[in-house]
Amino acid sequence: MGMDSIDLFGAEAAARAASAVVPVLVPLPVAGPYSYVVPEGMHVEPGSVVQVPVGPRQVIGVVWDQDGESAVDPKKLRPVTLAFDCPPLTAEMRRFVDWVASYTLSPPGLVARMAVRAPAALDPEPMVEALRFLGGAPARMTPARARVLDLAGEADVAWTRSGLAHAAGVSSSVVDGLSAQGLFERVFLPPPPVVAPPDPAYAAPRLAPLQQEAADALVSAVREDGFSASLIDGVTGSGKTEVYFEAIAETLRRGRQVLILLPEIALTASFLERFHDRFGARPGEWHSDLPPRMREKVWRGVVTGEVRVVAGARSALFLPFDRLGLIVVDEEHDPAYKQEDRVFYNARDMAVVRGRIAKIPVVLVSATPSVESRVNGEQGRYRPIHLPTRFADAALPELGLVDMRRHPPARGGFLSPVLIRQIGAAVGRGEQALLFLNRRGYAPLTLCRVCGHRFQCPDCSSWLVEHRFRGQIQCHHCGHAEKTPDHCPECGTFDHLAACGPGVERIAEEVESHFPDARTIVLSSDLMGVKRLRLELEAIAKGEADIVIGTQLVAKGHNFPNMTLVGIVDADLGLASGDPRAAERTFQLLSQVTGRAGRTGLKSLGLLQTYQPQHPVMQAIVSGDRETFYEREIAERERALLPPFGRLASVIVSADSRGEAEGHGRGLRQAAPAVAGISVLGPAEAPLALIRGRHRFRLLVHGRRGSDMQGFLRTMIGKGPKPRGSVQVQVDIDPQSFL
Ligand code: ADP
Ligand code: ZN
Repeated sequence: MGMDSIDLFGAEAAARAASAVVPVLVPLPVAGPYSYVVPEGMHVEPGSVVQVPVGPRQVIGVVWDQDGESAVDPKKLRPVTLAFDCPPLTAEMRRFVDWVASYTLSPPGLVARMAVRAPAALDPEPMVEALRFLGGAPARMTPARARVLDLAGEADVAWTRSGLAHAAGVSSSVVDGLSAQGLFERVFLPPPPVVAPPDPAYAAPRLAPLQQEAADALVSAVREDGFSASLIDGVTGSGKTEVYFEAIAETLRRGRQVLILLPEIALTASFLERFHDRFGARPGEWHSDLPPRMREKVWRGVVTGEVRVVAGARSALFLPFDRLGLIVVDEEHDPAYKQEDRVFYNARDMAVVRGRIAKIPVVLVSATPSVESRVNGEQGRYRPIHLPTRFADAALPELGLVDMRRHPPARGGFLSPVLIRQIGAAVGRGEQALLFLNRRGYAPLTLCRVCGHRFQCPDCSSWLVEHRFRGQIQCHHCGHAEKTPDHCPECGTFDHLAACGPGVERIAEEVESHFPDARTIVLSSDLMGVKRLRLELEAIAKGEADIVIGTQLVAKGHNFPNMTLVGIVDADLGLASGDPRAAERTFQLLSQVTGRAGRTGLKSLGLLQTYQPQHPVMQAIVSGDRETFYEREIAERERALLPPFGRLASVIVSADSRGEAEGHGRGLRQAAPAVAGISVLGPAEAPLALIRGRHRFRLLVHGRRGSDMQGFLRTMIGKGPKPRGSVQVQVDIDPQSFL
């Protein structure tokens, strides 16, 4: 025997045996991958999507990177069940998953799960059966047959049976009749693309000089071929979308894919249209309202590189693109980018991380950037790009405050005479008015006027909200609903229940009493599904309503050309919360809502009803002096060492009993290591102390900039008591919600 064969039976065989054990991330809340053996004849590599057994179940997992030698005896391991026929997750994508898991303190398998799809998406789509005309003529010609043959014979293309029948305007049986006579051959075509490829040159706009400068900056970022983060900060209507479309066009010309993140994509059908107008094709859509079949197709198209552009909600950030070249985060300040469920992450921040790992540019876009992004812009981490004026003749709405102390509403009403007069004027001119109130339902609280009893959710610490259209009182946290009562359960008195405070339904009632002939519509997510909402939004844009009363979903990106009055029913609403971002959020939301007005040449007005007209947020909005507002807000954050000048993390402990939750919280607190610059507050009962019957306590961890929050939390949780019984611990890094 020569050396070769010795080697064959020695090192190589050993290597083969070793490589036959692979780590697989499974979609379970466990610390790391599980090991499996690869059966003979199956090929897998890091990133391969596989099916593996876990206990009695089969789950979808991803082969992960080998971290040193596997110490496990392969004989004790179960085999990989099957490897799916789809490209493996790239090394970049695997680094991203690891990074997010480590940053958010989440099980990596749960993060990886966000990147893979259901089994159906993992196998290639079947070929489509089609017919190709071979020539010749049928025994008997009819006009219908002639039409089919004309089309089929036109060029050397194959048609599907139904496609050909449809195009010829005949029934499929006509095509079948011709097939039966041997005039066609059966061929198989690749499945049609889920979306047509966008054309970067389809309808390029002529940009105004400032827009051109901004577009040039982005295009050169794309050409640099490396990581960069830019922040487009420009008023609504300044052409931000138009400008980042140029960066998309350049990325497409370079043969790479683009991800556009949008909050509430399901409702922004107009964005898809607009993209189509610019690129001659729609982007692939990605959000939870997409039918499963469609999601599978888009997922596959993204992995294979066939889908060039995806417009999606935050979960699109985990799509495993084949060759991603650009990420755009539109409305980057929007709280909808924060996921607060299982894996707590902010898609805006993680988009920047993904860009850094993939070495590609990221573009953040907003008319009211988050304080964090503004500071990043000022300190040079992001490249700031300003678009200070609206495009062409579109003027920003004139904005005014209605001092509710001086112009109070009529008894039982919520609209001041000043606002009512302006609604009348707008409707009188044949234009539209929008009234904004971020409260669903009729009234946020019902109480008994005899004994003072308040209707509360049995499972949550929240009041039941009356929904008059539905005849119910509902909990907005758990969905608990009861028929609207006619008497007080406490004292038994009939007909003395009072609705306290307004919701959109109640404002609609008030509007109808003043303008009985106007076409009034209430837009609220609880009143209709996404499909219906899309239709309603289109109808409003076409002028099929005079007065629109809506919750925050009307704030998002819709274009209502005839909307010349925006009234904010309760501008103070968001300021009352204990949230450190309350002022910023109110400023952003109100600016966005008032920005709905005057998007065409019409003169427009935004009125904010407030009891605190001197509040800096109100002043910033009406004076248009947003810079002063940002300066103040940034100074305030810096003084209090709040983000981005310090770091925050929440630890939420919940349990079936109050005592258990509090006890576990205390245990965690005691386990907190002593680290300079990091301090822990709490445990304190959460403002929402009870949700779905679970009692909640919070610990708030504060760290100076640059502190190792994750390390601190890992130690605290590792050394602290193990969650037992009903106790659950959730970690929220960079929390947005403090409820
Ligand atoms: P933003 O994203 O800042 O709100 P948009 O990009 O939506 O602004 O632009 C506002 C409106 O002005 C849109 O209807 C857009 O089509 C139009 N617009 C902006 N810039 C141009 C341009 N250079 N040429 C033609 N229309 C433009
Ligand atoms: Zn409830």
